[in-house]
Amino acid sequence: MDVSLSELKVPELKSRTRSVTKTGSGARVDQDKLHRAGALILEAIGENVFREGLRETPARFARMFQELCYGVGVDAASEITCTFKEGGEGLVVVRDISFNSLCEHHLVPFIGTAHIAYLPREGVVTGLSKLARVVELTARRPQVQERMTEEIADAIVRGIDPLGVAVLLDAEHFCMSMRGIKKPGARTLTTVFKGLLAEDKDQRREALSLLKD
Ligand SMILES: [Zn+2]
Repeated sequence: MDVSLSELKVPELKSRTRSVTKTGSGARVDQDKLHRAGALILEAIGENVFREGLRETPARFARMFQELCYGVGVDAASEITCTFKEGGEGLVVVRDISFNSLCEHHLVPFIGTAHIAYLPREGVVTGLSKLARVVELTARRPQVQERMTEEIADAIVRGIDPLGVAVLLDAEHFCMSMRGIKKPGARTLTTVFKGLLAEDKDQRREALSLLKD
């Protein structure tokens, strides 16, 4: 349900021009709606949205959510823009790609590291920075860690068609640290194995040992 601007009585909102920013394939970020949402949250918790410290908060809130969610509707495989034949047949492992994302159940952060291994098909690899971009893009949308792990593996399969891929995410969820059960430091590990790294027990074990600490 839309809340009319006049109900909020936030003067600077009225003068704003409507701005909808296109992000991914069809996904749009509605800045005005985000702005109103920020003001509504403050109002709902009993705050005075006109007081000095909060006056600009709805605008900051809107800009922040636009930045945090630019990956909505964007295919992460589109980040793998180049592949090249390097000749090597061994596992390629990239560890400790840091990320932060938003838990889609609470809209608070979960932060951690991604570790990726893949077995090139006929020596076809991609730039290491492309893998980091895949992680970054999948993080820039409301997420659950299990699905994010799957989306990274899936993007790599579609992007470079390797013989196998393994992804491990290790993250702390603020919805567990700050609220509810309040267990700071608890870590959640998720893994996805595909292709040969799923089917071949030895390959799977080797990949997992390289991904783990
Ligand atoms: Zn959560």
